[in-house]
Amino acid sequence: MLPCLAIAVLFLAGACRQRGAQAQEPSASVTPAPEVQAPPRFVPEFTASEIPPEVEARMRGNSYPEGATIGLDQLRYLRLSFIGFDGIPQTGEMVCNAAIAEDLLDIFIRLYDAQYPIRSIRLVDDFGGSDDESMKADNTSCFNYRTVPGQKNLSRHALGLAVDVNPLENPYIDRNGVVRPPEGQPYVDRSLDFPHKITRDDLCCRLFLEHGFTWGGSWSSQKDYQHFDKR
Ligand SMILES: [Zn+2]
Repeated sequence: MLPCLAIAVLFLAGACRQRGAQAQEPSASVTPAPEVQAPPRFVPEFTASEIPPEVEARMRGNSYPEGATIGLDQLRYLRLSFIGFDGIPQTGEMVCNAAIAEDLLDIFIRLYDAQYPIRSIRLVDDFGGSDDESMKADNTSCFNYRTVPGQKNLSRHALGLAVDVNPLENPYIDRNGVVRPPEGQPYVDRSLDFPHKITRDDLCCRLFLEHGFTWGGSWSSQKDYQHFDKR
């Protein structure tokens, strides 16, 4: 009888251990992590610095031509994260006047936080300094040492004091009705409803106005819906 009793006791003890183990399972039993690498987490950047030498090299002969009367020391290089039209965050580059660098950092941080969609933020130097090509690509930009299209006087962009946002959907219509970029023609009728249209109540517009900028969409003789500048 004794060996049978001993086996029965051992069996019961084993059953108790099993139940105990089951009861503790949520904390005691840790499933090993699968060997799958999580996608790298996007780290947004919002920085302003003096123009780095490699950026200066890209600018010279493009947005910063020979004879430009503004000093590079008056300009700042910004790295600005934004949410693309595809909803994916990315980081762009912008050059602006030092006087508005803090304004732009604050505006673009708030646009990022609100997931405001922007197509592209690249230096116009990536488009050979061509405003037309930059606008055609729906590129948001600031500094470009150039004249006002069709005129001889310098643009506010030549001082780095003006920003154009999503220019394709928000074209410039001059006094003669010329649309820039020409590809922006479908977006000239502002009574239509379409994505990425800047209006007075749009977050982007409100932020620029809060920071003391004027909006080209409120001008009377011409309309520049993409344009914000500070005087
Ligand atoms: Zn502009």
